[in-house]
Amino acid sequence: MSAILELTSELIRRASVTPDDAGCQTLVAERLARAGFVIEHLRYGAVDNLWATHGTAKPVLAFLGHTDVVPSGPEADWSSPPFTPTIHDGRLYGRGAADMKSGVAAMTLALEAYVAAHPDHPGTVALLLTSDEEGPTNRDGVKRVVEEFRRRGQAIDFCVVGEPSSAERLGDIVRVGRRGSLSGTLTVRGIQGHVAYPDKVRNPIHLAAPAVAELAATRWDEGNAEFPPTSFQISNVHSGTGALNVVPGALEAKFNFRYCTASTAASLRERTEAILRRHGLDFKLDWDLSGEPFLTRSGTLRDAVTAAIKDTCGIVPTADTGGGTSDARFIAPLGVEVIEVGPVNASIHKIDEHVSLAELELLPQLYRRIVERLLASLSS
Ligand SMILES: [Zn+2]
Repeated sequence: MSAILELTSELIRRASVTPDDAGCQTLVAERLARAGFVIEHLRYGAVDNLWATHGTAKPVLAFLGHTDVVPSGPEADWSSPPFTPTIHDGRLYGRGAADMKSGVAAMTLALEAYVAAHPDHPGTVALLLTSDEEGPTNRDGVKRVVEEFRRRGQAIDFCVVGEPSSAERLGDIVRVGRRGSLSGTLTVRGIQGHVAYPDKVRNPIHLAAPAVAELAATRWDEGNAEFPPTSFQISNVHSGTGALNVVPGALEAKFNFRYCTASTAASLRERTEAILRRHGLDFKLDWDLSGEPFLTRSGTLRDAVTAAIKDTCGIVPTADTGGGTSDARFIAPLGVEVIEVGPVNASIHKIDEHVSLAELELLPQLYRRIVERLLASLSS
């Protein structure tokens, strides 16, 4: 069994459903300590974070990943038990196989191999892991670690996130940015009463409907060269007492903007509130900004990653800004060049999550090549 298959399997066997690390980071830390890394465990609340570094000079190149996984869903629906790594048809199956225990294992092996081959390498190479990426708040994960890094003045210059970015084959897509995510909870207040007495009630469903229709039809921006247009989606609407003869007193709706750098969170908030006011609604809005958009423009890291993918996978990647949010949103504001590159994401969060064995073998080579390309380009 190859080293990458063995380590990925060991990690899958640890049922680290968010935010439980279940010993994954200890396993990685022991290996990196043996390879000469300085290890620091940063535990906040129920969340484990690991910071492992080799070298003290600048620049700092950090790999970033998470050891937690989403729940498996009904075990009976899986072809093999989700936390028992299983090989079948040239693939490794198990929860986290793609998102992202293969990435964590590959980053670890790449760093081990790199420092063994280049004991006096320039700069610092590092690994940052959290067990709080898939959870609802992400409060005690990379977000907290970044706050601590700001306090200490710990810089990171380049960050490679081993999230599953690829669509059809390893390296076909790298993520160089992410849209921002802004959520809102809207409460429209009416007056509850009997349906037979329309003059005595204010029906919040009737009042909200035209405003909701306008929000859904609004073109928020046109996007730009790097990003698709901002999208607005309502995910929940709730109103009503269950009774047929009662007009409810309130309506609640939850919605989310995935927004590009052509808009800002402030402009979207203002425009939403203006539409609701124009419809004369008595409303309350609670906002939650879970991530600002970011973009890593052409530069040192993008060049190194593109070259490494060409070397290892024999293809030229497409740079993309799609997909959901990731921990890159917390790292990017430190002024870091960030790129996400990792396995095919077709099965992530699904029943029978898997990674192809052929691509699994390439993954540590790809990450090692990125380090070599990047640090060589800086010292030449
Ligand atoms: Zn992930």
